[in-house]
Amino acid sequence: LMANRVRPLSPQTARSLVESIDAFLFDCDGVIWKGDKLIEGVPEALQALRSMGKKLVFVTNNSRKSRKQYAKKFAALGLDVSEDEIFSSSFAAAMFLKLKNFPKDKKVYVVGEEGILEELELAGFTCLGGPGDGKKSLQLKSDLWFEHDKNVGAVIVGLDQYINFYKLQYATLCIRENPGCLFIATNRDAVGHFTDLQEWPGAGCMVAAICGSTQREPIVVGKPSTFVMDFLLERFQIDTSKMCMVGDRLDTDILFGQNAGCKTLLVLSGVTTLSELQSPSNSIHPDYYARSVSDVIELLRT
Ligand code: PLP
Ligand code: CA
Repeated sequence: LMANRVRPLSPQTARSLVESIDAFLFDCDGVIWKGDKLIEGVPEALQALRSMGKKLVFVTNNSRKSRKQYAKKFAALGLDVSEDEIFSSSFAAAMFLKLKNFPKDKKVYVVGEEGILEELELAGFTCLGGPGDGKKSLQLKSDLWFEHDKNVGAVIVGLDQYINFYKLQYATLCIRENPGCLFIATNRDAVGHFTDLQEWPGAGCMVAAICGSTQREPIVVGKPSTFVMDFLLERFQIDTSKMCMVGDRLDTDILFGQNAGCKTLLVLSGVTTLSELQSPSNSIHPDYYARSVSDVIELLRT
């Protein structure tokens, strides 16, 4: 058994990788930042890649912010990244509805936070739900009859720190009572860096709740789905074989890169350890691994 098929990036492979790649696709949490903290060496590495003429793209599964809000986060961390270089799962969800010609007179029920609401509004869709929904707790009396808007044609589920029983019921009714209702998940990450020091339940847990009550499977628009790739290609017009996906998670980032036909680099600055990567039970093998993004640039100098 070849348990150790993945090669660490070396000075030679770093050089040939950088030479053969026109665009680097970066996952965000665990690669660029951890929660709200910048990962060491990232500004210098991004600057070096930009000065070599590489295109930089940022692909995050975290739906809590819109592209505009992410641009502000990058700026606050001292990174010069524009809105149209950012592909968040919140943006992907709105683009999915647009691509499906989702009727503007229908409504979207959102189990999620501001990022999804903002992207939907920007794309011209009407939404219900969102973080504040169902704040008044349900009075579960025996004669409670719960009405939902019959004009809801899609339910979008992402991470929602304010998820409650009311929202689960609302989403469930929309999906169960209308077989044509779209069920869209921004992503299914098991956990995420909700705060800097600890991982918390991710959108996967909220998505699973609604799968459970509806017995339906969602369409996932975030990684490892390559849905955003078409929008990315439209923006940058680069062949996927000249792209390298850099991520910290095997079952989202590396799989996304492989599904899209990109080169893949796993960095150990996030959730995956070297022993998990090398474990015989792991079947997802990136082309290379490195400790962090800054390693790529440091290896070029040695
Ligand atoms: N979803 C949530 C809610 C998160 O907090 C995170 C990471 O912090 C993620 C997803 C994963 O984000 P990324 O794809 O940038 O690693
Ligand atoms: Ca990540």
